[in-house]
Amino acid sequence: MTEDSRALATEKEARDIAESARETEWEHQSFARELFLGRFRPDLIHPHPPADEAEEARAKPFMTKLKAFIDKVDSAEIDRTGEIPESLVQELRDMGAFGIKIPKEYGGLGLSQMSYIRAMELVTSKDGSLVALLSASQSIGVPQPLKLFGTEDQKKRFFPRLAKGAISAFALTEVDAGSDPANMRTTATPTDDGEHFLLNGEKLWCTNGTRAELFVVMARTPDKQIDGKGVRQITAFIVDASMPGVEVVHRLRFMGLKAIENGVIRFTNVKVPRENILWGEGKGLKLALVTLNTGRLTLPAGAAGAGKAMLRISRKWANERVQWGQPIGKHEAVAQMIARMAANTFAMEAVAELATALYERGNYDIRLEAAIAKLWNTEAGWRIIDDTLQIRGGRGYETAESLARRGEAAIPVERAMRDYRINLIFEGSSEIMRLFIAREAVDHHFRMAFDIVKPESTMKERLTAMAKSTPFYLSWYPTRWVSTGQLRTYGDFGKLATHMRYLERTTRHLGRAIFHAMVRYGPKLERKQAVLFRAVDIGAELFAMSASCSRAHMLAAKGRKEAIALADTFCREARIRIADHFRNLYGPNDENLYRLAMSVLRGEHAWLEQGIAAENSEMGLREPVEASPVPVGGEPSKMPDSEALAGVH
Ligand SMILES: Cc1cc2nc3c(=O)[nH]c(=O)nc-3n(C[C@H](O)[C@H](O)[C@H](O)COP(=O)(O)OP(=O)(O)OC[C@H]3O[C@@H](n4cnc5c(N)ncnc54)[C@H](O)[C@@H]3O)c2cc1C
Repeated sequence: MTEDSRALATEKEARDIAESARETEWEHQSFARELFLGRFRPDLIHPHPPADEAEEARAKPFMTKLKAFIDKVDSAEIDRTGEIPESLVQELRDMGAFGIKIPKEYGGLGLSQMSYIRAMELVTSKDGSLVALLSASQSIGVPQPLKLFGTEDQKKRFFPRLAKGAISAFALTEVDAGSDPANMRTTATPTDDGEHFLLNGEKLWCTNGTRAELFVVMARTPDKQIDGKGVRQITAFIVDASMPGVEVVHRLRFMGLKAIENGVIRFTNVKVPRENILWGEGKGLKLALVTLNTGRLTLPAGAAGAGKAMLRISRKWANERVQWGQPIGKHEAVAQMIARMAANTFAMEAVAELATALYERGNYDIRLEAAIAKLWNTEAGWRIIDDTLQIRGGRGYETAESLARRGEAAIPVERAMRDYRINLIFEGSSEIMRLFIAREAVDHHFRMAFDIVKPESTMKERLTAMAKSTPFYLSWYPTRWVSTGQLRTYGDFGKLATHMRYLERTTRHLGRAIFHAMVRYGPKLERKQAVLFRAVDIGAELFAMSASCSRAHMLAAKGRKEAIALADTFCREARIRIADHFRNLYGPNDENLYRLAMSVLRGEHAWLEQGIAAENSEMGLREPVEASPVPVGGEPSKMPDSEALAGVH
């Protein structure tokens, strides 16, 4: 370990670590990648991959058991006590719920990713703590990286235990390593004989950590010497909770997910055999990133499940509750919320299922679609919960227990809101997801033209870059203005054809806009988060529109014609949001906002915080820590490549 292992990584170190873990090549196609390049390729997603009926039949017995289980679970009690009774965990084990995707030959149910996300959607619609237990185990815990990167020996050792219900956890986050894993301090030092590693460090917020039998732990292994310089290495280990030196230090409690089994886990000289390394030394972050490409497909489905549950609550209440002589659903303000809720829930399911179906079809690079699905669905779901609370009025804010005590239906919107909020933070916060998507969105241009616009480029580098990029831009740029070939009318989309034509036009517009932003800012674009994030949001909306049109087309062909109205409404709304983002792409107020933020951070407006209670006046709050001075002024932070993988958990 180097002497600097306790120092925080510099911006450059964080970027280098992340960049080395980033998947740089695009072996397979991606609709979303094309979209950011201004190329609308519906052929990559449409016709919507058909349902796998054989898989659905295989999954049915399990889904039936899970549905019966979830319908009878007392989620109010779980929330109140902050505990999931062992009997419930055992029932889940007995039905195979911890081994949904583990291949049958190792004792798992051997079901597909689609079946898995549908199971998680079902559980999310009722109980956040239970879904955290199941999903931390299977989306990011040991089974997923084991399936992707495990050796045959590792699979034989661990899969059967996991399939029987050994709970697992994923331990990456530390006090100083949240979104930025470069600050990781947990170390794994090889023993003299090289057969083992001694693991030392402390992991924070580890979901399932307090109950897990097996962990995937990310730790720093000795630096690799590259060009005479030490480069930080992060490696993934499978760690058994029974190994001496593994200790649960605290069980952590949160605003929601009251029964989540989350803790601070300490490792003191834990002797981990070399054969427990997953994939290879130094490949830990890349492993986390690749694991998360599929792991991230779960939250979008959960968000859709939450959306459906909220829609049902809102629909019933808006019909039932009469104020000012009308059911509240008939007042236009509430009606608008209901319409958007239904349209967005439809779009969320379309996004989650399309991304998963593309993953299952194979030969498809899912990384951007998964990130968009995580970002877009979790944010759309949050707005739906907020609207549901508003529609329920005072009852939305009241706890279900209190409602029941005075004889009203125990509708848990307050709990749903508490449980849901974390979805915008873990497995890659919304900001980190936008950075990740932006990094890929501009990658092609940066590779092609970065050396031309970079101030420190030599004339030779500039000329080489121009020679490389000119042929591409000569054909690419003009065709981002006018379509080549015949304009498609998309007649088979009926009422949605207009949106398909819009998608084609607007995708070209997005491609141009990103290119123009690069020409305008050059390398400084990396620091223009606000501009990049608007471009990302346009791309995410275009993806959600495409998914909705394709899904509605498929459903209408099967007789579910009502889907067209939902997709149409969703697209109309998305178009308004997109127009708004384009109009404000360069954010006329961005610079002013940044300046003001810096001045706030320097304390120049601390006077505004007068007239409030003392900072440490709450019982048990420790003394306030003097904030370290913020380096103010200068430029905003760069688009850290680390964000491509940070917050991967
Ligand atoms: C209930 C719960 C369960 C969790 N489960 C797990 C788990 O099982 N395993 C695990 O390893 N971790 C887990 N985590 C940790 C979780 O993934 C992190 O909280 C998350 O990665 C964010 O890290 P942070 O909280 O330290 O935020 P920070 O990284 O400190 O970020 C704070 C804020 O700054 C923003 N931000 C940070 N960097 C940038 C940037 N470059 N540009 C713009 N904005 C930025 C972030 O988006 C965020 O809004 C869990 C956390 C919670 C609360």
